[in-house]
Amino acid sequence: MISGPRLALLGTAVLAAAVVAAPLAQAPSPKSQALWFKGNLHTHTVNSDGDSTPDDVVTWYRERNYQFLVLTDHNYLTSVEGLNALHGADDKFLVVKGEEVTSRFGDKPLHVNGLEIERFVPPPEGGGSVLEVLQQMVDGIRQARGVPSINHPNFGWAISPDELGQVQRTKLFEVFNGHPTVNNLGGGGVPSLEETWDRILSSGKLLYGIAVDDAHYFKRPEAPAAPRPGKGWVYVRSDRLEARALVEALERGDFYSSTGVQMQAVDASTSALSLSVRTEPASKYRIQFIGRQGRVLSEVTTPAATYTFKGDEGYVRAKVMESNGKVAWIQPVPVGAAGPK
Ligand SMILES: [Zn+2]
Ligand SMILES: [Zn+2]
Repeated sequence: MISGPRLALLGTAVLAAAVVAAPLAQAPSPKSQALWFKGNLHTHTVNSDGDSTPDDVVTWYRERNYQFLVLTDHNYLTSVEGLNALHGADDKFLVVKGEEVTSRFGDKPLHVNGLEIERFVPPPEGGGSVLEVLQQMVDGIRQARGVPSINHPNFGWAISPDELGQVQRTKLFEVFNGHPTVNNLGGGGVPSLEETWDRILSSGKLLYGIAVDDAHYFKRPEAPAAPRPGKGWVYVRSDRLEARALVEALERGDFYSSTGVQMQAVDASTSALSLSVRTEPASKYRIQFIGRQGRVLSEVTTPAATYTFKGDEGYVRAKVMESNGKVAWIQPVPVGAAGPK
């Protein structure tokens, strides 16, 4: 990973075919000042149930060429001022305030991250349903000027697609969480988080999917199923490495999520979604463009492609699959009047 690669935007020429293999484009564009910043949005320290100090945790990410990190201890707002004095550097590295607001309804664990909150958000007391508790958490985070993200919906089989789709005033959820027991793939009749995502998008609600570590253990090599760092992250497009700019870009969907695939370019216009992968020499790639109800609209085996909207897709998102199982999730673009909002 090189830090802050310049974004190369693909052109948006109208194409006769819905999908064509596109060459890597290097043309300058008005957005060429924007950079991609790599960051992890969900991390624990000894201030909750992590095994390492904030200093050790931040060091782990900084040494591996992440550009930002959100510390999200359970019901605890870890201070970042001292950490940024030690580790922060203009345009190179930033620690962002956060908290995993942690509650439950009955036996169902309900966790919502507050990103860039201005103050501690207490977990709600009471609430008559999963949805009510989630909504109180989201609203508490908003009142603290934070950006909410609903965590690991299938952990403890806590949040159904219906419930997730009804939460108001939130745009983000974890489509991938690197903790080993959060059931990303569903099972036993419960949909995977990608199926959940498509159901919610198809119902008309615009939701963006993030990938996170939820790292707890930076030590303990003897624990094979431990929640470790380096599993999932986001690349956020922003003109600067600043906390408010980063979370606002997340809420605009101006980012992609990854477990190891890096993009050369991602460009969504009103007429098309264009992608190209920063390829690894030993890997091969498949790109799927996905629309309403999770239907695969098109699949290509080249590392770059453009999908031109027909108008009736509802939304178009993309999934890039690398030959060793790494994935990038490109955020959905609403298409037509019936698209998600
Ligand atoms: Zn959690
Ligand atoms: Zn967590």
